[in-house]
Amino acid sequence: MPNALTGHLRVEANRDRCDGHGQCLLAAPTVFDVDEKANKVILLDPEPVEGLRAAVQRAVSMCPMGALEIVG
Ligand code: SF4
Repeated sequence: MPNALTGHLRVEANRDRCDGHGQCLLAAPTVFDVDEKANKVILLDPEPVEGLRAAVQRAVSMCPMGALEIVG
């Protein structure tokens, strides 16, 4: 469910699980990036607007490590 007050999602990324291959970046490039030195995901926008739900959900589904979650 989106935050009723803001209309934004809440996204979490588990960097310990991430292997840095960037599927999430392809799905939602305004929300995720990859730190190429650390080879880990960077959460650019932890509270994306509701309109990005489909893209973020796609990123969650595409992540091979199960490192991403929509938590609110
Ligand atoms: S898709 Fe998952 S494993 Fe790959 S960079 Fe994104 S969070 Fe990390």
